[in-house]
Amino acid sequence: MFLVTTPIYYVNDEPHIGHFYTTLAADVLARYYRALGKEVFFLTGTDEHGLKMQKSAQERSLSPKELADKNSSIFKSLWDELGISYTRFIRTTEKDHIELVKEVFLKCKENGFIYKGEYSGWYCVGCEEFKPESELLEGNACPIHLKPCEYITEPTYFFKLTAFGDFIKDFLKSGAVMPAGRVNEILSFIQEGLKDLSVTRPRSRVSWGIPVPFDKEHTIYVWFDALFNYVSGLPSWPASLHLVGKDILRFHALYWPAFLKSVNLELPERIFAHGWWKVEGQKMSKSLGNVLKPADLITSWGLDEIRYFLLREIPFGEDGDISNDAILRRINAELSNGVGNLFSRVIGIAIKFGKTQISGLKDVYYCNKAEEFVKSYHSKMQDIDFYGALEEVMSFCAFLNKYIDTKAPWALKDEELISNVLYALLDGVSLVCSCLEPFMPNKMQKALSAIGLSAPIFSPCAKQSHRVFNQLTLFPRR
Ligand SMILES: [Zn+2]
Repeated sequence: MFLVTTPIYYVNDEPHIGHFYTTLAADVLARYYRALGKEVFFLTGTDEHGLKMQKSAQERSLSPKELADKNSSIFKSLWDELGISYTRFIRTTEKDHIELVKEVFLKCKENGFIYKGEYSGWYCVGCEEFKPESELLEGNACPIHLKPCEYITEPTYFFKLTAFGDFIKDFLKSGAVMPAGRVNEILSFIQEGLKDLSVTRPRSRVSWGIPVPFDKEHTIYVWFDALFNYVSGLPSWPASLHLVGKDILRFHALYWPAFLKSVNLELPERIFAHGWWKVEGQKMSKSLGNVLKPADLITSWGLDEIRYFLLREIPFGEDGDISNDAILRRINAELSNGVGNLFSRVIGIAIKFGKTQISGLKDVYYCNKAEEFVKSYHSKMQDIDFYGALEEVMSFCAFLNKYIDTKAPWALKDEELISNVLYALLDGVSLVCSCLEPFMPNKMQKALSAIGLSAPIFSPCAKQSHRVFNQLTLFPRR
C-alpha cells in the first residue's frame, strides 16, 4: 500500500497557497498510484493544540475546541471543494489520536528517553519552540515571525535527543530524505551540537493540549503531539512518504526519527521537502497583504490549470515565483498549443476520415517511442520529480505533432495506411491524457472518455483498437 501524508495544518492559520501546494503534490501521487492499480491511503488533517490556539480562542471569547472545530472545517471544506482525494482527514483533538500520543509518551519514558529538568531560554509563541540564541535577530526576535521571543524558565520534561545523533545522521545519509541539498542543512545543524529537547509545557501556561499521562501538571509539546498523527492516522506504519514544506523539514528529519526510534517504531520510507512560492517576485506575508489564497487563483485560471502550473513551473523541491505572466505562458504554450491542440488535431483527423473505431497495424517506430516515454514518465513520478514527468509528456506531445506532420495522414489514400497512422495517434493521445490525469483529473477524465476510456492506461500499443466519441476544446487560449 502507498501511504502518503501531508503535514497536519495548524488551525490558527488560514489556508494559503503553501498548504495547497503540499496537499496537491500528495493528491497527484495518490491519483497516480491509484491509476497504477495500487492501494493508496492519503492522510491529511489539522493540528489543533497549543498556546497560539489557546490565545486566539481567548481573544475571540471562544473555547479552544470551538475555534478548532470552526477552523478545521475551513480546511476540510476547501479540500472537498477542490476535489482533493484524501482518505482520512485527521484532527489532533480526536480521541484515538490523543490516546496514542499518551501511550507513546509513556513508552518513551519507560524506555528511558524522558527525564524531568528545568528549561530557560528564548521562546517564540509563533513557532511554539525555544530558539537557540544564535538564530535570534536583533531585539531577540524570531527569524520567522520577526517578533521578540520571551525569555522563560520553567520545569519541563526533556527528550534525550542527544542519544540519537548518530542514528539520525545515518538516516539522513541513507537517501530517504529529499532533496539532497536540504539534508546538508540539517547535518550541519547536528554538527553544531544537539541538545536534549524540552517536550512538555507547564499546564499552568499551556492548558490546551494533551496532558502528560504520568504528571497532570504538564502538557505534551505540540510537535510531539502533532507528528504522531502519522501513526495514529495511517492504517499501518511506516509511511511510504511524508510531504512537507522546507520550513518544517527539521522537525520531520531530525526530531521525528528520534521520537520514533525511542519507542521502537520504524522510520518513514521517504521524506520530501518542497520549496516556497513568492508572488510576483515578492515573499508572501500577512504584513504585505499578498498572501495568496488557492481559491482566488483557481477562480481566475481554473483548477486544473493551477494544479498543472504549480507542479510544472519549477522542479519540486526548489523555490518558485507565481505571476500572472508565468501562468499565462504555461497555459498557452503547453496546455492550449501543446496538449489541447494535439488532442483536437487527432480527433479532427479521425472524424474527417469518418472513423470512430480504429484498428491498425502497429507502427514499431511509434510503439518504441511510446514505450520509452512511458518508462521515463514512471521513473520520474516515482522519484517525485513532477517537473521532469511533465517535461516528458510535453516532449511526447511534440513528437506526436511532428509525427502528424511527417505522416501527413490527410494526403494518404490507402485505407490501411490511414488506419495505421490514426491508430498510433490515438494511442499516443490516450497515453498523454493518462499521464496527465493525476495532475489534471477533471479535464483529463473528460478527454479520456471522449476517446472511449474510463480510466488511464499506461501500456503503449496494447489495445486492439481505439475509439473516438467526440471533439473537445480542452484548453481555450487565454
Ligand atoms: Zn517564530
